[in-house]
Amino acid sequence: MNRTGSSAGAGEQLGLEGMPQRLYTCTPTRLSTWLDCPRKYRMSYLDRPSPPKGPPWAHNSFGASVHTALAAWWRLPLAQRSVAAAGDLVERGWIDLGFTDSAQSELHRGRARRMVQEYVQRLDPASEPLGVERTVATRTERIAVSGRIDRLDERAAADGGTELVVVDYKTGRHLLTVDDARASLPLALYALAAQRVMRRSCHKVELHHLPTGAVLAWEHTAEALARQLGRAQDIAAECAAADEQYRSGLGQADIDRVFPPRPGSMCGWCDYLRHCPDGAAATEPRKPWDGLASVTG
Ligand code: SF4
Repeated sequence: MNRTGSSAGAGEQLGLEGMPQRLYTCTPTRLSTWLDCPRKYRMSYLDRPSPPKGPPWAHNSFGASVHTALAAWWRLPLAQRSVAAAGDLVERGWIDLGFTDSAQSELHRGRARRMVQEYVQRLDPASEPLGVERTVATRTERIAVSGRIDRLDERAAADGGTELVVVDYKTGRHLLTVDDARASLPLALYALAAQRVMRRSCHKVELHHLPTGAVLAWEHTAEALARQLGRAQDIAAECAAADEQYRSGLGQADIDRVFPPRPGSMCGWCDYLRHCPDGAAATEPRKPWDGLASVTG
């Protein structure tokens, strides 16, 4: 792959025909999809009409229901932000898709309710976030990246002032470490985007693991954030070059050269498995509810 360094000068930003490169507009998810599997990236973002996806995943329904309930809880008037209200919001917004039957859906709705209530119990309802499910964006001369932050807090800082903290909820059973917060490209990009939107520094990111109540926090330096932005620009340069080749027209042989499949055990969870012989050869398809073990144990 052709990698364009983050410190590329203006000359290096010229395309093959001497034209300036286009600004690459993306989300952190789009960049991650490219890294995971370029073929999946093509089917997700370039092929039109998009290939039909497989059925909805129950674990995604679980995660989305929890996120929606937490966002709705913060939008309630302060006096109504009770633990019971948080549970009621899970019930009201429950996404009943991907489960094997209504009994399984009900079982997991109850688990989601308990998870949200236990989490909310540890919060101060009066500690108003600066943003909930807030879309933020930032740009350089090469990349325009936007995404939605689960929560943006303003907290008391050690120096007596306040600091911004990017909070990301996690509902999977998989135990997280501080390294997950440190290395997360999306979290670093959210911090940079929050800086731009709020016009003040934002270096702290946190993963809130709801099943265990663990908070994995990391404070980036300005240099570390710049490195993550450089990494995002490198990935974006690869995506932009591949997009350009796609737009110029590719034959079947070239399409797999530019967008190679990355078959592996994760293919069982791919929404496009049915359109991908390499993925199908690598793994068994998963059932829509198989991922529930990963969210509730
Ligand atoms: S099934 Fe696997 S190889 Fe195929 S597109 Fe999906 S992730 Fe890529």
